[in-house]
Amino acid sequence: MASDVFFADMRTKQGLSLLDKVDQLFERAGFGNFISSKDLVAVKVHFGERGNTGYVRPQFVRRVVDKIAAKGGKPFLTDANTLYVGSRANAVDHLKTAVENGFAYSVVGAPVIIADGVNGKDYINVEVNLKHFHSVKIASAAHHADAMLVITHFKGHEVAGFGGAIKNVGMGLGSRSGKQQMHSDLLPSVTEDKCIGCAKCTNWCPAGCIKIVKKKAVINENKCLGCGECTVTCPEHAIAINWRSDPDTFQEKMVEYLAGVSKHKKGKMGYISFVIGVTPDCDCCGWSDAPIVSDVGILASTDPVALDQACVDLVNKQRSLTNTRLDGYVDVTDKFGGVHPMVDWRVQLEYAEEIGLGSRDYNLIKL
Ligand code: SF4
Ligand code: SF4
Repeated sequence: MASDVFFADMRTKQGLSLLDKVDQLFERAGFGNFISSKDLVAVKVHFGERGNTGYVRPQFVRRVVDKIAAKGGKPFLTDANTLYVGSRANAVDHLKTAVENGFAYSVVGAPVIIADGVNGKDYINVEVNLKHFHSVKIASAAHHADAMLVITHFKGHEVAGFGGAIKNVGMGLGSRSGKQQMHSDLLPSVTEDKCIGCAKCTNWCPAGCIKIVKKKAVINENKCLGCGECTVTCPEHAIAINWRSDPDTFQEKMVEYLAGVSKHKKGKMGYISFVIGVTPDCDCCGWSDAPIVSDVGILASTDPVALDQACVDLVNKQRSLTNTRLDGYVDVTDKFGGVHPMVDWRVQLEYAEEIGLGSRDYNLIKL
C-alpha cells in the first residue's frame, strides 16, 4: 500500500517562510498524534563534522523541538558517536562540535544527549533475527526514548549511494562497535608499531581472545566474534578499523539497524528530510562539496522507505548542476549513480521494503 509523503517546495512569501513550512509538515504528517504528554522524544539529528556546512540548520531543528514541546513531549537532540576518529568520536568532542555548529541550547531549545554515552559503549542489544544480524547494538538513549523525530539532510553517500532517513537512523544510532559491524565482516588486526601493551582491549573483548604477548596485543582469530569492541577501545588506534564492505551488504546491515531502532517504537516515529544543499558526500566529511542539483524542498512522512524513495526521485528529476561532481557524467537520470558509480542505492530501499519497514510506493502530497 502506498504511503503518504508530504512535500513543501522551496518557494516562500511574506508570512510563509521555510521555517513555517516545517510547522506545516509536522502537522500534516501527523507527528503530533503519536506524542503523548511527558514522552521523552529523541530528535535524531546529525550535528555535522567540524568543517562540514551541509547539515540541517539548527533553526529548522528548533521548529521541530517547539512543536514537540507544544504537544507536551520532552524533546532532546541526539546522535551516536562516530566510528572514525574525527570531531565526534566521543561524547566530549561530539558535544563541543555540536555547539560549534550551532546546536546550543539557546538556539535549539532542547538539551543534547549523545546517545551511546561518553565513549560509545552505552548500547542495548536489540533482537532482530534478520539476514545479517541476530541482534543489533542500539545507542541506549535512542532505544529508551518513548518516541523519535528523525531530521535528515538528504545527500549523497560514499557507500550507500545516498544518505537519507534510513541511513540517518540505521547507521547513525548504532553504537561505535555496531558501526564497525555494519562496515565490515572482516577480523580486526593489530598494528604492532602502535600497540603499547596497555591491555585495555583485553578487558573489553567479550570472547577473551586478545592476549598481551611481549607487550603487544595478539588476537586469536579463531575465537574472534568480529564484534568490533577492541577497535573502538584502543586509545592508540592500534587495532585497525576495516572499512571494507561491499555496498550491498553495508546497506542491508544498516537497514537491519533501522529495524532495531524502530522495533519498540511502532507508530511513534516520524521523519522529516531536507533536500537542500544536496552534496555528493555525507556530513561526516569535514567539508561540503558543491550541491549536485538545485534545492528541492522539505519532505515528511511516517514511512522512512517511502520518504527516501520520494527524495531520491525528486533529486533525479532535477537538472545536474555544472561545476560539481556530476561534470562529465552522461546518465543524468541517476544523480547518485553518477557521483558514486560503484554503488546501487536501490538496495537499501528494496531490502527495507522486503523486511516490512515501509513501502517504496508513495503518494506525494504537495502543501
Ligand atoms: S588497547 Fe591498543 S595499545 Fe592497548 S594493548 Fe590493546 S591494541 Fe595495544
Ligand atoms: S572484534 Fe571483538 S571478539 Fe574480536 S578481538 Fe575484538 S573485541 Fe575480541
